[in-house]
Amino acid sequence: MKSKTLKIAFLTVLVITAVAAAGPKSPTVLPARHDSAPSVQNLSAWLEALAEMNPIDVHTHVFKEDPAFDGLLKNLKLRVLDICVIDDRDPFFKDLERQRNPTLNLVRSSSGRVAFCTTISPYDFEEPGFSQRVNRQLNQDFSAGAIAVKIYKTIGMEIRTKAGKYLMADDPVFEPIYKNIAARHRTIVAHLAEPTSCWQAPNPASPDYDYYKKHPEEYAYLHPEWPSKAAILAARDHVLATNPKLRVVGAHLGSMEVDVNEIAQRFDRYPNFAVDTAARIPYFMLQPSDKVREFLIKYQDRVLYGTDLGLMPEDKTAESLKEWISTYERDWKYFATDQTVEYNGHKVQGLRLPVSVLRKLYHDNAVRWIPGIAGGAHQSR
Ligand SMILES: [Zn+2]
Repeated sequence: MKSKTLKIAFLTVLVITAVAAAGPKSPTVLPARHDSAPSVQNLSAWLEALAEMNPIDVHTHVFKEDPAFDGLLKNLKLRVLDICVIDDRDPFFKDLERQRNPTLNLVRSSSGRVAFCTTISPYDFEEPGFSQRVNRQLNQDFSAGAIAVKIYKTIGMEIRTKAGKYLMADDPVFEPIYKNIAARHRTIVAHLAEPTSCWQAPNPASPDYDYYKKHPEEYAYLHPEWPSKAAILAARDHVLATNPKLRVVGAHLGSMEVDVNEIAQRFDRYPNFAVDTAARIPYFMLQPSDKVREFLIKYQDRVLYGTDLGLMPEDKTAESLKEWISTYERDWKYFATDQTVEYNGHKVQGLRLPVSVLRKLYHDNAVRWIPGIAGGAHQSR
């Protein structure tokens, strides 16, 4: 209890400092200490060690400008990929305009610490000229600075042809779009399918139990007519195989969260494929630590750090930033130390990855797989 109180107090201080730190002040983090008892100094040491990596979070959704957020970016030497999404089931995400403007403002006001990931709307895919229209929009977004394109799980799990067939990621209608993205050396962030638990009966032990309780409209178990997860991932794999020049980062461990061996198989087959860790680190923790550690070391060039953290216009910034900070701290503790970490009620020992692997996970892989994310000109790999 005591350490929890200290932790909350520390986070509050850090958030307040982040709010105040608009200019080039001294860092809020304290000098590193390496004893293992939980203490305020240790908490700050984790964040300081993280900041030394020049970390990049490749999976965020930020649509609110706030000097406090800017302060967080500066204090943690953090860069983020700001991902736009179109989902007609959510009022805010119904169209791109409401997201594009705040995102572009953030890119400008953050001196490039925020990078723009645009998206496409596949809902009108049967209308004439769909691919050309999407490519025109994408090229405008690329000119405005977009470095990546999100494709979303509405493909495979929601959108249907007029005849009632589900639209899949390897539908020929997308081919000219994939070709255009590859030709312009941009990266696709592919959130296709969902955790396996989405197709299974409710299980309170699942990390996603609460999510599907709140979002029955996204819960495949309640919609047996939807394609299977295997069919959705097979369509994704087909895109990887037929577009070897297209870089694809599979969001959320590429929806292969249950077993790292499944990810490894895809990495072996598709050199153009990487994954981000967004919102799926608890699934690493459910697997044997040795197995996950070996996987992260063997495929150290293919996994990008991401969180799925967000900041929405209606959010209280200080509240949200507390969650950002505690998430970064917990993830760092898990990947970089051998201390006990708690995630969704599971206690697990940290993986203590080698520093060279941490650098790739937190920085280098993002630069290589999403060119432009650390500023500078776009380059092909
Ligand atoms: Zn996301």
